[in-house]
Amino acid sequence: MTVPEYEPVIGLEVHAQLKTSTKIFCGCASVFGDPANTHACPVCLGLPGALPVLNRRAVDMAICMGKAVNCTIRDKSIFARKNYFYPDLPKGYQISQYDMPLCEHGWVDVRAHGTARRIGITRIHLEEDAGKLIHDQDADSLFDANRCGTPLMEIVSEPDIRNAREAFAYLGALKRILSYLDICDCNMEEGSLRCDANISLRPKGQDIFGTKTELKNMNSFRGVEKALEHEIVRQTELLDSGQAVTQQTFLWNAQKNRTEPMRTKESAHDYRYFPEPDLTPLVVTCERVEELAQALPELPQARFERFTNEFSLSTDHADVLTESRAVADYFENTVREGADARAAATWVMGEVLRMLKEGPRDPALLKVSPKRLAAVLALVASQTLSASAAKRVLGHIEERDCEPEDAVESLGLRQISDTGALKRAVREVLDKHPAECERYKAGEKKLLGFFVGQAMRSTKGKGNPREINRILNELLN
Ligand code: ADP
Ligand code: MG
Ligand code: ZN
Repeated sequence: MTVPEYEPVIGLEVHAQLKTSTKIFCGCASVFGDPANTHACPVCLGLPGALPVLNRRAVDMAICMGKAVNCTIRDKSIFARKNYFYPDLPKGYQISQYDMPLCEHGWVDVRAHGTARRIGITRIHLEEDAGKLIHDQDADSLFDANRCGTPLMEIVSEPDIRNAREAFAYLGALKRILSYLDICDCNMEEGSLRCDANISLRPKGQDIFGTKTELKNMNSFRGVEKALEHEIVRQTELLDSGQAVTQQTFLWNAQKNRTEPMRTKESAHDYRYFPEPDLTPLVVTCERVEELAQALPELPQARFERFTNEFSLSTDHADVLTESRAVADYFENTVREGADARAAATWVMGEVLRMLKEGPRDPALLKVSPKRLAAVLALVASQTLSASAAKRVLGHIEERDCEPEDAVESLGLRQISDTGALKRAVREVLDKHPAECERYKAGEKKLLGFFVGQAMRSTKGKGNPREINRILNELLN
């Protein structure tokens, strides 16, 4: 008997918290980390008679996301009540969208293992978040209503993802788009981006899907990838031993690196969805959608392609440089200030990203502005500065907020390319080491490195190594 090879089928449900200043159905501030229950009004608490009013900015943001991932925007969509009991849900229902979501039928292109895949987006809908329970040391739990009514956008993918790596890449692509649009903080640890993963296996070549399980509680993209890898192994073992997969929800335990069963999944009818009677249907005009679409920034995929074409960057480099819109802007501005694109790419990916990590995080706050970086790179290109000297100059600029020229002067780093001065230095070295000169002339060519080192030392590291090499060859041969 041959054991069939299985193909994983994966679909992700991503919740993105929208960066509006107020909540989705009331005027309370939508902020993370404030003292408990300081942003809670009758609407948040679902008090009798309190009426929700839809936040227009949240709708705009969801439309922008929809357009960015090629969705159709419904001109009329409906809010629905999703009924369930949980102590963090005072109303006893969550306002969501059900059979008529705002956005549908989109797709996003992702690259995993160097290959491009198109992942379908089933739908994007708006909904409100629930409150938060705080389980501290006491026996009883505390309730914080601040999160009640925080605007969420749920992005549901088609079951088009085929492995854990691809799921990781898909999440990365969504995150890039969300942050380019500036509509979500995308912080999985703080919960502003959450992901539930659905996964089933089927024998390779079979069309129909197997029974899926759902994985929750991953708090990083790597966590999603690991949880999926783990679940692929678990389901494979079940199927190989002739057992069936049961539809079930698991919680990922990152500490123990394993999944733990949570509950058997409710089906839709358990939620008794019905149209929200307190909200009119959401009507969006073509004009409004067009207006928002026109104002979209250049999206990560387009920018990636432009970086590979216009600047001849490798896909790896273009990938790193388009990771964030701010870094991509920084790189482009450096080129616009006259830097060579390849050199700018190398330096932005190396020194600039390092400075951002250790310093301000926001490229706009770097004292090494694109203009200053371009000026330093010009000094490297003209061999006035060596690469290691340029690093020191950048560090100095970042520390003192000074101009490149001043940094070079005050560090005394101007590279000596003046042939006369270098020739004198090289002669001195050769005069001091007659024995080595004899050995070199007798064929011990590797001594060249020794001479270069000595000449560099005598110029206190400021000699241009290429020029030193040239002079050595001239004098020795
Ligand atoms: P549910 O009603 O259980 O929430 P949905 O049909 O809403 O299921 O799908 C939820 C997610 O699960 C979607 O991202 C979808 O692509 C994915 N999905 C659906 N069926 C399967 C399957 N058999 N295997 C893997 N993923 C699936
Ligand atoms: Mg679902
Ligand atoms: Zn409120």
